[in-house]
Amino acid sequence: MILPIWFTLLLVIAGVVVLLISLKPAAIVCQIQSKRKDFGLGWKILFALICLFVLGYFLFAYTVTKLEPSIVTSIIPWILFGGSVFVMLVTSMSLKSIQNIEKIAALERHHALHDELTSLPNRTLLYERLKQAIVNARRQGSTVSVLIMDLNQFKEVNDTLGHHCGDGLLQQVTPRLTNTLRNSDTVARFGGDEFAVILPDTDLVGATTISKKIINAFEESFNVEGHKLQIGISIGISVYPDDAADVDTLIQKADVAMYVAKRKNLGYTIYDSRQDRHTLNRLIIIGKLHDAIKNDELVLYYQPILETKGFGLWGFEALVRWRQPELGLLMPEEFIPIAEQSGLIKELSRWSLNEALKQIKYWQEIDSSLKISVNLSVKDLQDSSFLNYLNELFVTTQVDPRSLNIEITESIMMTDSRRAYEVLYELHRIGVTLSIDDFGTGFSSLSYLKQLPAKSIKIDKSFVIDMLEDDNDAVIVRSTIDLAHNMGRIVIAEGVENKETLDILEILGCDYAQGHYLGQPIAANLVPDWIKGDQLQVK
Ligand code: C2E
Ligand code: CA
Ligand code: CA
Repeated sequence: MILPIWFTLLLVIAGVVVLLISLKPAAIVCQIQSKRKDFGLGWKILFALICLFVLGYFLFAYTVTKLEPSIVTSIIPWILFGGSVFVMLVTSMSLKSIQNIEKIAALERHHALHDELTSLPNRTLLYERLKQAIVNARRQGSTVSVLIMDLNQFKEVNDTLGHHCGDGLLQQVTPRLTNTLRNSDTVARFGGDEFAVILPDTDLVGATTISKKIINAFEESFNVEGHKLQIGISIGISVYPDDAADVDTLIQKADVAMYVAKRKNLGYTIYDSRQDRHTLNRLIIIGKLHDAIKNDELVLYYQPILETKGFGLWGFEALVRWRQPELGLLMPEEFIPIAEQSGLIKELSRWSLNEALKQIKYWQEIDSSLKISVNLSVKDLQDSSFLNYLNELFVTTQVDPRSLNIEITESIMMTDSRRAYEVLYELHRIGVTLSIDDFGTGFSSLSYLKQLPAKSIKIDKSFVIDMLEDDNDAVIVRSTIDLAHNMGRIVIAEGVENKETLDILEILGCDYAQGHYLGQPIAANLVPDWIKGDQLQVK
């Protein structure tokens, strides 16, 4: 059928319109490619060709007006219209798939540079941004501060409440951090409970102010799965260019400062070159702890525990020390946390139990009622072979299980490990007694105590030491004694450093006391003389 000229022209114009529409996706693809710094020559040629087609269509339209309607003028406009629809479909479908690929690539880029749990930048992105901040600061003659931060009780939360709770806590920590900072600052999660902040154009004074703000932001407790958690944070500060001029050293120095802040419970610490020695020590400790037991470098010291009324000797608490050939006598706080992290604690605890039971057997020849108290870690109770080991030890050392008391920190009360509870009940069944150590420092309360076969609680020395000056501490000590007694538990106060404290504890009805005033931890060879007479000095 021969088309009238007006219809031919209409078809050509419709084709031109469709071609013009397909210019848009082609232009968007060209734009995406130029943003990616990809030259995108193919798409540019396509764009130019579409423009040429438009011209061609107009030329055809002009020619048609000069011709008589024929079979040719009737077929060609259909072909032209079909061609332009085809071009439009191809360009818009290509645009869609390119946009999808872009989206996936952006998501992958985000994954590669961000932490999955908190969506914060990860270590890689932090390094990139810090590098850039240093370049900018060098150009402008300004400073950059770096904060490395670590949560204080995170390990306990993870160990006792489980990883899901730990993850929940990390997710709540994130907005507390970001809300205290400017948009231009970068907060990153380094892994575990370690975070880092870059403060561009900020000097030491600014970094200190921000550190205080962060610490304040942690004053309010967190509520994770119904647990109210009071979590502190330790911050280490280093500043470009004063402390270092490159990314790695700057981060390493902030990390050294953070470690000092954590160890001394200072909140935040500014990097000081003298701190490096401690880091070196820590590295030696990690490396050498493995062989310490084998090389017979561990020793137990013994600190007496006495009745508050009348000073009757209950027995001794065994406290481990490490005679490290290079560093001298190391106190447990310097290596027990490392032993717990590395799993060496199980071996260390078995060594302590073996040593302490052998000693008490020997001292019971002087006084058969003496008992020994040994500190264990929650991890020991989760060890499936622990009970067998201890039972065999009672046989080989010939010590009555009733002479052994074990001390576990109060974090045990938040444990949902059934195994740990089973072990405690089995120990209780065979006559071993249990003390809850460091009472009052963690998240637990006396109500948890009901679930445990604990004979006694030890009020943490931090409350006892200051109870004469600090009314709050005195109230905590008094109410803990009353509540524990109401629940039928015995109370031991640690950290008794003077007579006044001892007198008050006696008035408050505290059952036993331990502390420098009553007796320092001493080596095993000094214990027999102490039992025989020296303790009389206290009275
Ligand atoms: P802890 O169980 O709370 O032990 C009491 C700590 O207080 C001991 O520190 C003791 O020397 C110290 N102390 C005693 N009286 C006073 C006092 O009047 N004033 C002050 N300021 N401190 C006093 P030490 O020996 O450094 O032990 C520290 C911690 O290391 C212990 O705290 C315990 O948690 C852990 N620990 C010690 N030995 C072992 C062990 O064999 N195994 C395990 N798992 N942990 C141990
Ligand atoms: Ca203890
Ligand atoms: Ca304690």
